[in-house]
Amino acid sequence: MIVVLTGAPGAGKGTQAELLAQRNGFEKISTGDLLRRHAKKRTTIGKKVDSLLSEGRLVPDEILTNLIEDGLKLKTRRDLLLDGYPRNLFQVRELEKITKGNPISSVVHLDVERDELVRRLTSRRICNSCAAIYNAIDNPPKVKGRCDWCDCDLIRRADDVEDKIEVRLDIYERETARILDFYRQEGKLSIVDGNGKAEAVYNHLKGIIGEG
Ligand code: ADP
Repeated sequence: MIVVLTGAPGAGKGTQAELLAQRNGFEKISTGDLLRRHAKKRTTIGKKVDSLLSEGRLVPDEILTNLIEDGLKLKTRRDLLLDGYPRNLFQVRELEKITKGNPISSVVHLDVERDELVRRLTSRRICNSCAAIYNAIDNPPKVKGRCDWCDCDLIRRADDVEDKIEVRLDIYERETARILDFYRQEGKLSIVDGNGKAEAVYNHLKGIIGEG
């Protein structure tokens, strides 16, 4: 089964993807995490995308297509979750081609109001090593500034600052939100209210995917 998780930056895709991976055996492909890992390691891809990531702009489609194709080839678990892909109509079409033999079963959109997205993104911190997600207000680490899992430093993402957040939300509204119509017409779209706490959102999500 392939499930696509969509939603604006800050909607909680990464948090829910992690919960579904830990508790429901999903293998997740989080394109943002993969790209940041490339940037950190200064790979050929990393050098190309580094400044785009910091600016909050989309990375060229071709790079994403290759990442997703490789991810699907290397997949070891039965159920796959895509977090952060597709993000525009071109990527939707690419994904249709890539998954021809094993089509997407459902697309779940996490719906969160813009004010709440900004609030979450400005207080978000991530682990510099394992990419675990924290929030200074709703989900603080046990020890300030340290990851609960690996004790490494927590950092603020370069794109989690006010002006970059606005850029990302604008791109989301202009380009990514349009993919919902496509999946609605395909009868694959479910919308989940993502404004609540992570655990409540997870329970709702699990019900939908379980019914898949
Ligand atoms: P968020 O959803 O909070 O913006 P992500 O971690 O999913 O964060 O993505 C971070 C950045 O990675 C994006 O702003 C963009 O630069 C790049 N990126 C991730 N997925 C894609 C994609 N499908 N297409 C283009 N760029 C992407």
